[in-house]
Amino acid sequence: MFICDTHCDTISELYKNEVDFFANKQHIDVERILKNGGGLQFCALFIPTEQFRYHGGIRYTLTLLDKYKTELKKLAARGVDVHPILTKADATAALQHKFNPLLAIEEGGALGGSLAALRMYYELGVRALTLVWSNRNDIADGVNEDCTKGGLTTFGRQVVAEMNRLGMAVDVSHMSTYGFWDTLATSSKPIIATHSNAYSLCDQPRNLNDEQIKALGKNNGFIGINFYADFLEKDYHQASSESIYKHLAYMLDLLGDDDHVGFGTDFDGIDHTPVDIQGVQDLVPLVELLTKKFGDQTVAKITHQNCLNYLQRVL
Ligand SMILES: [Zn+2]
Repeated sequence: MFICDTHCDTISELYKNEVDFFANKQHIDVERILKNGGGLQFCALFIPTEQFRYHGGIRYTLTLLDKYKTELKKLAARGVDVHPILTKADATAALQHKFNPLLAIEEGGALGGSLAALRMYYELGVRALTLVWSNRNDIADGVNEDCTKGGLTTFGRQVVAEMNRLGMAVDVSHMSTYGFWDTLATSSKPIIATHSNAYSLCDQPRNLNDEQIKALGKNNGFIGINFYADFLEKDYHQASSESIYKHLAYMLDLLGDDDHVGFGTDFDGIDHTPVDIQGVQDLVPLVELLTKKFGDQTVAKITHQNCLNYLQRVL
């Protein structure tokens, strides 16, 4: 089995807890990914807006980036087949490798208002950026600021254009609905919601409404289903693998195809997981359940093919 996951906060947690990527007690470690059969893992550096809105964002981002690079070197030294995703060719070759990390930043405040910083992050290997977390930054407004009806700022438009030019995935998870539509209209390449679910099934502002889901399909974009229990079910105690199936089935039905959805677990960034999923080790039974419901072909698309195809369109 090979699983692509478009969002986790593992690196930030490795840094805070001073533990290793290979083996730890968090939701994700590489040892368990390898046991599953390997995969492609977006590794987001999460930059808390509240703390770094005015200063220190770039310093903190580089600190997490250093942790990421250090951990990859340690994995390679152990003999792990580490294959970072930097180009279209890397995405094509991913299935031949065991562990394919894709470096991402969650929260555009990490740029400190600088396109030069964006370009340097790209040089250091960053290939996806969540434009805004749930608050306001100098790119756009997050879901907690929907009242402003604000789209992308002038700087935000420049960031999207530069990301398109460089070949980076533009992530709209956490963004206000106005920002979402503005980004969709502005980006010349398909956009991604790395970790968001269906609002019609669970009415959390972080989830996507039906129009947004359909638009992401038309845009040839990608949606990663979030495993956060609170975004799966109104009563988070009720969330299980069955809830993940329901969100996937709902989106497939709405989209009219099975080409644009996958997993964006949010592992190591969530305090409630589905009752039968404690971490990456529980993905095998989930995939078995989904195979019973959707069949092999659709499940191969959900577990990896759709994400790999999306990367071909944007990198
Ligand atoms: Zn998030």
